[in-house]
Amino acid sequence: MKTNIWGKIVSFVAILMILLMPVSGTSAEANMAPDWMSNEELAQRLSAIEQASNGKVEVTVMGHSSQGNDIYAARVGTGKQVLIINGNIHGNEKSGPEAVVSLLETLAGDSSFAKGVRDKLTIVAIPRFNPDGAALTQRQNVFPWQEVVAAYPQLEGAAPAWYYNSRARGFDVNRDFSADLNYVPRAEDFPGNDLEPGFFITSEAQALRDLYLELKAEFGHVEAFVDLHHMGTPVTNKTGEPATIAIDWPPLGPADSGKYDDWTLLDQEKSKRYALAAALGVKELSDKEENGVVQYIHFQERDYPGQARCAFALNGTATVLFEMPGQQPQVGYDQELIDRVENGLWGIINRMVDGSIDNLNGDHFLKLPKYWTDNTTDMKDMVELYTKQGAINNASASRILANQLAGLEQFEKGGNAEKMVKHLQSFKTVLSQYRQQGVVSSAVYSRLNGDANLLLDRWSLR
Ligand SMILES: [Zn+2]
Repeated sequence: MKTNIWGKIVSFVAILMILLMPVSGTSAEANMAPDWMSNEELAQRLSAIEQASNGKVEVTVMGHSSQGNDIYAARVGTGKQVLIINGNIHGNEKSGPEAVVSLLETLAGDSSFAKGVRDKLTIVAIPRFNPDGAALTQRQNVFPWQEVVAAYPQLEGAAPAWYYNSRARGFDVNRDFSADLNYVPRAEDFPGNDLEPGFFITSEAQALRDLYLELKAEFGHVEAFVDLHHMGTPVTNKTGEPATIAIDWPPLGPADSGKYDDWTLLDQEKSKRYALAAALGVKELSDKEENGVVQYIHFQERDYPGQARCAFALNGTATVLFEMPGQQPQVGYDQELIDRVENGLWGIINRMVDGSIDNLNGDHFLKLPKYWTDNTTDMKDMVELYTKQGAINNASASRILANQLAGLEQFEKGGNAEKMVKHLQSFKTVLSQYRQQGVVSSAVYSRLNGDANLLLDRWSLR
């Protein structure tokens, strides 16, 4: 009987709600659903912020894209510490502009908080660095190779840069940087590769390089640079929870490689402190548990001197990368995701303002969860997770893999390269048998086998 009464009440409420709903409600709301800003909307928002700020925010055109679109930079504050925030260098990664515009709205205001930030920092924010790519929702800018050769006759006959995409007819602008800020493209350096610097061939990269040099001339030093991106949708090693924001410090190979010894201004510990500040910001400023704040993939061999953040880091700037899950167009407008970006930025800004960023312990950044492997302990975490999830469906197989990894962990700690190579190979053999027997899924196999290959490459070289 009770159920019946409740059923009637529920259907009465449902009918009432339908009756009360405005006829045009549904379609009007659908039209009003927020979407990522277009280039035109961004220009309007920035101009509105500048006008309302009474001179506190200055918006300039810092340069033009290869296709002639304006690239805007908003400058706010008069403090001695310079922070550059760069968004949307990849055209299909659009949360950066949204977070930056929201941040600027706060900084343009009359609150004592905003004034405090403006007194201590000079923030130069480039909400959308790649308007050509953003308009097409593609990673690259638009700069067909024949236009490149027309602009740089010395490149006639040279192979296109390795980061040129002939299908997109443009460049991955975040490979077009070099720590040598005076570099001019030379045919003999092409096509290059990911372990070498980029060529400053795009007008976008040149515009950011010039801005960086101007700020350096004006202030003597650019304290920090933050680059805002999107990635895939990984889950953490230990818990299998989705990563909700991944943060990183500059990938410039193993600390002891010697490759960057001439770049004496590089301060990786400082970048880790800034990365930690971002992670803390996301956690403190959210009203949720933020268990998905993770370290972006950074096994020790990762080395991308052509990325903007690496080029600036080699020149003495602390640099931080944000990577948000999913890309456009697949991932639609998501306010929670945008808030996370903004909170990470406030985490850095707040600690620059009160100076506490210098007192952080950068090593604490390395304690954040990972979703990738840099050592056998990470692989052990994966075997544990897969066992819990039932992706390894045989208890004795789980135990054997875990034992093998425990042994490897000891050789790894002791630096025993010969044993590492030998036992990684036998781990791979066992793993491959388990796949044939259907004990592990192909996803488990490909992750653990890939991890073993990474470590094999590393230890074979020693
Ligand atoms: Zn990106």
